[in-house]
Amino acid sequence: MMCPVCNGIRLLEADCPRCLEPLLDCGPEQDLAGPYAPYGPAAAVSMLAPEKERQVVPVCMHRLYCTVCSHSSDAGVPLTLG
Ligand SMILES: [Zn+2]
Ligand SMILES: [Zn+2]
Repeated sequence: MMCPVCNGIRLLEADCPRCLEPLLDCGPEQDLAGPYAPYGPAAAVSMLAPEKERQVVPVCMHRLYCTVCSHSSDAGVPLTLG
């Protein structure tokens, strides 16, 4: 299992919910085991999936930051086989 974003296969693209500017990917947060990762740092609910299809899958948590308004958020990138 690997993160396609960390491995440069694809870019993590998301827009700031406040100002709609592209968010900057600040990298993975795999060392953080917070309340969003009840099954460990390598498993969390993917926020990229449609809500009804959300399930606990292995993800790489990335910190996203808006350089325009300083808004920060997290995004879980589903890991892929390989
Ligand atoms: Zn990653
Ligand atoms: Zn912003």
